[in-house]
Amino acid sequence: MGYKDDVYDLLKEPLRLLTVRIPVRMDDDSIKVFTGYRAQHNDAVGPTKGGVRFHPDVTEEEVKALSMWMSIKCGITGLPYGGGKGGIQCDPRSMSFRELERLSRGYVRAISQLVGPTKDIPAPDVFTNSQVMAWMMDEYSRIREFDSPGFITGKPLVLGGSAGRESSTALGVTIVMKEAAKIAGIEIPGSRIIIQGFGNAGSFLAQFLHQAGAKVVGISDAYGALYDPEGLDIPTLLDKRDSFGTVTPYFKSQQITNKELLVQECDILVPAAIENQLTEENAPDIKARIVVEAANGPTTLKATEILTDRGILLVPDVLASAGGVVVSYFEWVQNNQGYYWSEEEVQEKLEKILTTSFHNVYRTSTDKKVDMRLAAYIVGLKRVAEAIKWRGWV
Ligand code: GLU
Repeated sequence: MGYKDDVYDLLKEPLRLLTVRIPVRMDDDSIKVFTGYRAQHNDAVGPTKGGVRFHPDVTEEEVKALSMWMSIKCGITGLPYGGGKGGIQCDPRSMSFRELERLSRGYVRAISQLVGPTKDIPAPDVFTNSQVMAWMMDEYSRIREFDSPGFITGKPLVLGGSAGRESSTALGVTIVMKEAAKIAGIEIPGSRIIIQGFGNAGSFLAQFLHQAGAKVVGISDAYGALYDPEGLDIPTLLDKRDSFGTVTPYFKSQQITNKELLVQECDILVPAAIENQLTEENAPDIKARIVVEAANGPTTLKATEILTDRGILLVPDVLASAGGVVVSYFEWVQNNQGYYWSEEEVQEKLEKILTTSFHNVYRTSTDKKVDMRLAAYIVGLKRVAEAIKWRGWV
């Protein structure tokens, strides 16, 4: 990217990383202690921003990497934020509603010194939702002794959430997918699409693509995958899914494994689950002509190289999944001004930002003859590098 070593040195690790231990009273009256993290990659552009995930595989390294990707996402889309990320090592699927509430509140108490509407603004991520955001906002407001809707985004509408936030990651994916499809000469109506993951991003995406006339031929959850070359019955799948996106156990007949799903016939493949799913092992066998990354970090660097060499157009996570944080930004702006927009207004503004962002990245990739991921990093880090220079940090 042509920056000096000092820029690299500052940006290669988050500025701050907080590790916390959260004691939670479980329903059987025992105490369980959970480990959580909050990483703030860089706050030169503005307060840090990024989700909090609840997952058994959360580690310090993962949260650090995810916070860096948030800096790049905010840079590409031109948001006045740096990147942050949080996580708690836990399995919310095996916890009760009240245990999850106590864990969410305990996490906020543990990190409250480091976060705030002008410091670091959390949001939903893997296995967290608007209910978790509501508890966290309420806990923060109690600690600070004033109503603080701008402390967190992805809230329920009645607590200052934004119209269109829940489906915004998926809508963002469809916006960039449309642009990529034009380049690859694919018509979305009638195209065959595989979506790995049926959580917030994957399920709304399946709905949007189904409505747009695409054939969603494959989906998956944490337990398995479904594939039907004629197209799956998306409305029924959406109806059956639980709040963690589990659906495959209900449909025995079309079942295959998650691994098999990724290499089935399709035009567009969307990894919308977790990291490191497309690897050097399966990248040579992927049939899609376009890969759109709705998850964070689903493709290894080696697999990126293989896919790019094979002429597959890859729309990287930091661009493709940015719809969520863009509408989070809209939510925060609405909270700050106390005036709320219509869903149409939100969608229109999102479309403008992401279409421009896509073309900035695509142009950089062709101008500099680099793959789309590197192009996205070049575009995204430019703002961060400029900001740290102006501030005199390098
Ligand atoms: N967790 C989402 C992401 O990875 C959204 C973050 C946000 O809205 O701040 O982009």
